[in-house]
Amino acid sequence: MSPGVAIGPVHVRDSGDLHVAEHHIAPEEVEAEKIRFRRAVKKAERQLGKIRGKAQTLHGTAAEELGYLLDAHMQMLRSRRLLEGVEQRIAEQRLNAEAAVMKEIERIAEGFLAMDDTYLKARAEEIREVGLRIVRNLMAAPYPSFDRIDENSIIVAEEVTPADTALMDPNRIAGFATVLGGAEGHTAIMARSLGLPAVLGVADLMGQVRDGDILIVDGTRGRVIVHPTESRLASYYRRQREIERETRALSRLRGLPAITRDGVLVTMQANIELPREVTQAIVSGAEGVGLLRTEFMFMNREDLPGEDEQYETLREIVEGMAGQPVTARTLDVGGEKLAWSLDRDRGESLNPALGLRAIRLSLKERHLLDTQLAAMLRAAAHGPLRILLPMVTSVGEIREVRRAVQEVEQRLRRRGERLPYETPPLGVMIEVPGAALAADALAAVSDFFSIGTNDLTMYTLAIDRAEEQVAHLYNPLHPAVLRLIQFAVEAGLRARIPVSVCGEMAGDPRYTPLFLGLGVTELSMAPASLPRVKQRLRHLDCTAAVHRAMAIMDQSDSGRIAALLDDFSG
Ligand code: PEP
Ligand code: MG
Repeated sequence: MSPGVAIGPVHVRDSGDLHVAEHHIAPEEVEAEKIRFRRAVKKAERQLGKIRGKAQTLHGTAAEELGYLLDAHMQMLRSRRLLEGVEQRIAEQRLNAEAAVMKEIERIAEGFLAMDDTYLKARAEEIREVGLRIVRNLMAAPYPSFDRIDENSIIVAEEVTPADTALMDPNRIAGFATVLGGAEGHTAIMARSLGLPAVLGVADLMGQVRDGDILIVDGTRGRVIVHPTESRLASYYRRQREIERETRALSRLRGLPAITRDGVLVTMQANIELPREVTQAIVSGAEGVGLLRTEFMFMNREDLPGEDEQYETLREIVEGMAGQPVTARTLDVGGEKLAWSLDRDRGESLNPALGLRAIRLSLKERHLLDTQLAAMLRAAAHGPLRILLPMVTSVGEIREVRRAVQEVEQRLRRRGERLPYETPPLGVMIEVPGAALAADALAAVSDFFSIGTNDLTMYTLAIDRAEEQVAHLYNPLHPAVLRLIQFAVEAGLRARIPVSVCGEMAGDPRYTPLFLGLGVTELSMAPASLPRVKQRLRHLDCTAAVHRAMAIMDQSDSGRIAALLDDFSG
């Protein structure tokens, strides 16, 4: 999921002691606390169901053994004794849900331990695991701390969220491996962005390693090697040194122009999430930030960032990019990108990817949008900034945001804030099939397009990008996806607005000739991907790429498309 090789001692994320605070709740809080508990149980059921599905992909007895264990967990999770016991403690003892679960679990575990039967004694450990799962869900662990673990550790966890990844410091953490997660999810994107080697979706991982075991994570080949032999270790250390040499060689491309053999110039920009990534963007030779995912400012905190704080962060990025444009996207939470500060009062949506997310949330809760726009407009006074809207589906949404920009601008002017001479360009993500099909209408009211191939692939093929069970079906080379991309690019170019591609495809040199052939001359990607794409680009002939793209667009079979793409060398 994220290339590179990490070698180091394991730190099992879930083995740490959870510090569970105990407190009493008021009588009127009892019902809400019960609902919170039931939600945490439902979430645990979903988690177990997912791991169960994953376990079926294992070979031989491993699938069976893990399956039994997970079934046992599921049964315990659904047992009336546990559910009623906890709710009773909440209602009668007025305990917070976390403490009620811990106490009830301990009581049940002691019951098992007191039995004169080794089989039943073993159940005590299992019920404790189930209890901890519920407690972790209840606490939603907004601040997973990675600073106390040993340097160069490899994090092993059932799941690592995008917000967790944002807290990982690549200077301290060597890499990570998880049971759940798919390649196009934001955890994987974030890992690639930070240059952290990672393998996601390893079914029987948790049972195989303990804290301190030496582990190899080969993020390039998607392998996790437990208890490696000396010779295996030696060969992976060699591989690490090779990767370092390759990276050094590629860094020489930094100062060279992104130009094809026949003289077509391409703008190469960086996707970033955090201000600290500006350095990587500059070092990799990016000509601006093509996508700043501002939602990461909202993660790992309890409160919402205010206008001044957002402004300061944006200003830091704009100034850091020293005159190169920064494309700031408004909040795109929802789906798997959750922000505790925004999510806690909301019920769980059955279909979060189709729910109240991204621009829909911003337009519904105008204070979110207005605060972001104000911060962006103020930051635009310090350097070129463009505003980008996620998950747009209709012209009405863009018009509404334009009105909001005007209102916010007037308010800021009255307040005497320093503003840019011209209102920043307002662009839209093309990442919903409907938006791609309506691209000509959207182009008429937008200043630029940015094609988000990650979501576009997900929504076109109805494949959850973060869902490991259908990961193998996620195929951006499906003709339907390519036709939508082509349609949107052509509509944008006809309207003479800039069109860039900022999904993960943009950062994969495999697709560079295809985009070029379709007329795309702006690409935005993780800083670490830039040198390789530039290298490919400098060896390409644009005219030949156009012909190949035409041939590809005539195909109806994605296998044939892949073949045409992979044997193109022009
Ligand atoms: C996309 O969907 O392709 C995209 C670039 O946005 P994100 O990955 O943040 O959803
Ligand atoms: Mg998207």
